[in-house]
Amino acid sequence: MKFYIQLRNFILDTLFPIKCLSCNVEFENLEPVQRWICPQCLEEIKIRRQQVCPVCEQFSDGGRTHHRCTEKTHLDGLWVATEYKYDIISSAIRKFKFNFVRDISFPLSNVMIKSILEVEEYGDFQDIILTELSQDSNEEKIYTDEEKNIKAETVLIPVPLHKKRYNWRGFNQSFLLSEYISDKFDLKITSGVLIRNKNTKPQSKLKSVSKREKNIKGAFSCLDKNKIKGKNMIIIDDVCTSLLTLDECAKTLKKAKAKNVWGLVVARR
Ligand SMILES: [Zn+2]
Ligand SMILES: [Zn+2]
Repeated sequence: MKFYIQLRNFILDTLFPIKCLSCNVEFENLEPVQRWICPQCLEEIKIRRQQVCPVCEQFSDGGRTHHRCTEKTHLDGLWVATEYKYDIISSAIRKFKFNFVRDISFPLSNVMIKSILEVEEYGDFQDIILTELSQDSNEEKIYTDEEKNIKAETVLIPVPLHKKRYNWRGFNQSFLLSEYISDKFDLKITSGVLIRNKNTKPQSKLKSVSKREKNIKGAFSCLDKNKIKGKNMIIIDDVCTSLLTLDECAKTLKKAKAKNVWGLVVARR
């Protein structure tokens, strides 16, 4: 299976050379992961400057769910890196998801990381994802005991795909994003613990809210509750269409006694 995907990618690359999705220039000297959105266009992507409550989408410090909105979601908050309305973001996400371009995980995760680090003031989300603020990656990281505890307590959870969909696509786009986030912030990915046991239809293909709710309800389950109990969990996905998928994950994780559950996405549609 993997060999055919590689072969197919090779043929596609030869027939259709990669051009930057924004400036349309072909940068042959760059690594393939850098060609889909060239470094200059990547630099120009505006990150979201003000986070909102995931439920009512009104301003909320650092994206935390308003106290009055907590009845409507299991998420403690949601961090959204940038805007889906930017052409470069929507076309990158589409290519990533529907044209199976794994390398787009590089620029998209880059935007996520940038948005987390470049806020004026660190809030609740930063408290659980960052424990050391030094940007010098050459220096060996030395954590205080308190920081080590937070690190041990915080894990990343990519939104799982159903086995059938995974086999069809060849990768889980949320997992690829999680790998870059994990490297950057030195956090563990807990995959295989939350699984999707229902082969749901893509939420974006369903028009009504009730159909979407029915589609996603009971879709996930936890395999190893010990790996979830008492942890801060950050659920990672590329795009959030309605809140339903993330909320259903959060509900499943909270049932298994997760402490805090946040969502982290590139953009919200
Ligand atoms: Zn470009
Ligand atoms: Zn709210």
